[in-house]
Amino acid sequence: MTRAILTLNAGSSSLKLAVYALVGNDTPLAEGQADAIGPEGVLELSVAGAPVPMPTGRAITHTQALETTISVLSDALGDLEVVGVGHRVVHGGRLFNEPTRVGPSELDQLARLVPFAPLHQPHNLAGIAAATGTFPDAAQVACFDTAFHRTQPFLSETFALPRRYYEAGVRRYGFHGLSYEYVSGELARLDPVAGNGRVVIAHLGNGASLCALQQGVSIASTMGFSVLDGLPMGTRSGQLDPGVVLYMMTSEGLSPEEISEVLYKQSGLLGLSGFSNDMRVLEAAGSAEANSAISYFTRKVREGIGAMAAVLEGLDALVFSGGIGENAPGVRAEICQPMSWLGINLDDEANARNAATISSQGTGVRVMVIPTNEELVIARATRNVLGAKVVGDD
Ligand code: ADP
Repeated sequence: MTRAILTLNAGSSSLKLAVYALVGNDTPLAEGQADAIGPEGVLELSVAGAPVPMPTGRAITHTQALETTISVLSDALGDLEVVGVGHRVVHGGRLFNEPTRVGPSELDQLARLVPFAPLHQPHNLAGIAAATGTFPDAAQVACFDTAFHRTQPFLSETFALPRRYYEAGVRRYGFHGLSYEYVSGELARLDPVAGNGRVVIAHLGNGASLCALQQGVSIASTMGFSVLDGLPMGTRSGQLDPGVVLYMMTSEGLSPEEISEVLYKQSGLLGLSGFSNDMRVLEAAGSAEANSAISYFTRKVREGIGAMAAVLEGLDALVFSGGIGENAPGVRAEICQPMSWLGINLDDEANARNAATISSQGTGVRVMVIPTNEELVIARATRNVLGAKVVGDD
């Protein structure tokens, strides 16, 4: 019997999971993914890096996807005793600023945050419900994308609205915190001096944001009250003049749901290119629309880095992460090349091969590529939360 920790990242129609030994190293025993959950749901699983065949037609709901995966895993790894399930939860609001064991009262509090993240939080909570049903005896631990940013000062958190909005929780929370926690930890390990200095981390994936860190602590980020703010993304608009939303309401007569659909699902790289939210597809297309979508993205990342450097009063390190940040040398070059004024100078050869350090030697800002690992942050947090409990129980 292997005592295991499961990490779950539940989206609207997807479920990413990883299995770690409760007491063990940071390498997952297995990793799995369910895509297009529903009648056409597809399950993928790999154990120790090797793919394992999965039954078809068993991913109609999150619970089915989870149960099928665990039953296949139990055959492959021997019986698994899942003692803790760590969940990625997008919003922890003001109450939750660290990984937290979740019971009915915490679930209730998290459900009240649904209006703050309507397209993400319900699915995260559905993942907790599915895991609680499948593993009733395991600890359910919520790990929040907002928690890492709770160190931010008032000036980073507030909008220039009447104060009552701040008091009511209408403030800039910041997201992608699990990724920032991992990447900043890796930076501190690889380069303690830079890690302790003025750092911007660019998490560039389907969702994208920047975080400014001073001495390893978040002091500002581009994502704000919702995951719409800041940089343009795969299908999300990023920062927008609020007058545009007023125009959609008053002149176009769009409902809140219709406006959400435009801002969350039809904008960003998809909206600008007219055909894809996927950076690889846009780079391969090379059309004028695709190129201008990429240029808008890189320009906004550059603007954001400039703004973060202004808040930090300088810059010691810039770190790229996320699917685009880790794998797209052309995008990194387009972001960095016009920023030599800030001391950012790329080594083209190192950049082309996605090397760990991609800045030219001896120049001001150290530019790095650090692959993120949100699952590991969740697994470590879950082990921590359980640690005291397990020791206390034994
Ligand atoms: P998510 O936010 O959903 O976790 P990812 O971090 O996986 O997203 O990032 C997905 C994005 O990364 C997509 O736009 C994809 O095209 C891009 N990407 C992945 N690999 C490459 C690559 N080799 N070159 C360019 N873009 C890439």
